[in-house]
Amino acid sequence: MICTCDVWTQFLDYAKLKISEAAFNNWLSPIVVIELTETQLRLEVPNIFVKEYLLSNFKKDLTSFIPVTPAGEPAIEFSIAKQEKKSVVPVVPPTRVVEGAPFSVSEQNTAQVPHDPLFSTYAVKLNDHYRFSTFIEGPANQFVKSAAVGVSERPGFSYNPLFIHGGVGLGKTHLLHSIGHRIMETNKKLRVQCITTEAFINQLVEALRNKSIDRMKRFYRQNIDVLLVDDIQFLQNRGNFEEEFCHTFETLINQNKQVVITSDKSPSQLKLSERMVARMEWGLVANVGMPDLETRVAIILHKAEQKGLSIPSNVAFLIAEHIHNNVRQLEGAINRLSAYLRLLNQSITEELVEKLLRDMFQIVPRERVTVENILKSVSAVFQVRLTDLKGQGRAKEVALPRQVAMFLAKELIKESLVMIANSFGKTHSTVLHAAKAIEKKISEDETLRRQIDMVRRNLG
Ligand code: ADP
Ligand code: MG
Repeated sequence: MICTCDVWTQFLDYAKLKISEAAFNNWLSPIVVIELTETQLRLEVPNIFVKEYLLSNFKKDLTSFIPVTPAGEPAIEFSIAKQEKKSVVPVVPPTRVVEGAPFSVSEQNTAQVPHDPLFSTYAVKLNDHYRFSTFIEGPANQFVKSAAVGVSERPGFSYNPLFIHGGVGLGKTHLLHSIGHRIMETNKKLRVQCITTEAFINQLVEALRNKSIDRMKRFYRQNIDVLLVDDIQFLQNRGNFEEEFCHTFETLINQNKQVVITSDKSPSQLKLSERMVARMEWGLVANVGMPDLETRVAIILHKAEQKGLSIPSNVAFLIAEHIHNNVRQLEGAINRLSAYLRLLNQSITEELVEKLLRDMFQIVPRERVTVENILKSVSAVFQVRLTDLKGQGRAKEVALPRQVAMFLAKELIKESLVMIANSFGKTHSTVLHAAKAIEKKISEDETLRRQIDMVRRNLG
């Protein structure tokens, strides 16, 4: 018979060296050993998350200390401790600041936001500038904006959930906060909670530690009418947190309480459970795209005006042309420009802007060169049919251009020779041989060199 205290204490001593004291106290200290036999260890954990933590962090290590199953896994039977009585739930001091959720609810909003000091510290204060009136519309974001307005006007009854996805800096958070503002303005009774996914997870961890998980669940499922969740992608790979979120989410939706979610990916691209993905697709999924040139110009002029800056339209176009995939960067450009002009009283010209913002300007990415592009371009320049080029015929009229294509692929595509050869359906030595042959021919054949240059230019 193994002595219980020995192996478990030995494991704890070992674990102490691997994790922080806080993590140790949060996760491992509360575990109680119920029984240890030759074949298994029975543990009582305060909740499922502790089990998950133990197994995801120490599964392999545990096998050196405790009995293992025939499959080589730690042989542990878990039981969940009975919930403590509600009266003993401790309260977190409201002054606590949590990473990822540095704001407490603003005074002006407290009337609409559910009161519970334990949870209010995690809520995000709505940004005062993020309103529908300051959101500039264009073809790429018109649909998502009208969906957002629709949700604000009939929360819980138009699209539920509303799922907004799109790239970084395209206005997802702006729209989310706009919804919050609009709902609070039009219906003062509704309790709106805006939260980042990171803060939700932090809050869950904290609630587990404080044994206030029931209170948290109650809060989310009963005390709010509108839940605005920013950046759901942070829920990926978070196991049980995802499950908890899913429950909350379902409860709210079932009560017709509005949920709005933002994400950098569409639901199906997120690494989340099928159930969660299906839930998020229940309502309306709307994409926010990069505004087109005209809309970017309008955004620039709007942001400049807010800063008291008057930008000539040719300059606005110049900036909009060169910063094309992130509205936040457009703002950054305006900020830099305005800071500079405040210091030096100069007029805004294209030259000045080019000098000041050069490092922010984005180069239009070239289309990636592929074997297919090369073959197409070679077939055009050498006047041979694409199908012949791809075929096996050895006639000189096709063999030479085919070798040219291989030569260019080796030069322009940053892949291994084997990969390139595969794309041609050849061996790597054939490609190497072709490349060498062409290299030699170029040095002697001016026409061939020009033809190859032409293909290069066509490929951009
Ligand atoms: P995301 O959450 O998608 O990363 P944000 O909502 O934080 O992006 O937007 C980044 C910045 O760009 C914010 O300051 C926001 O006000 C601004 N912005 C984005 N899209 C627009 C738009 N269509 N009109 C006005 N401002 C915008
Ligand atoms: Mg955001």
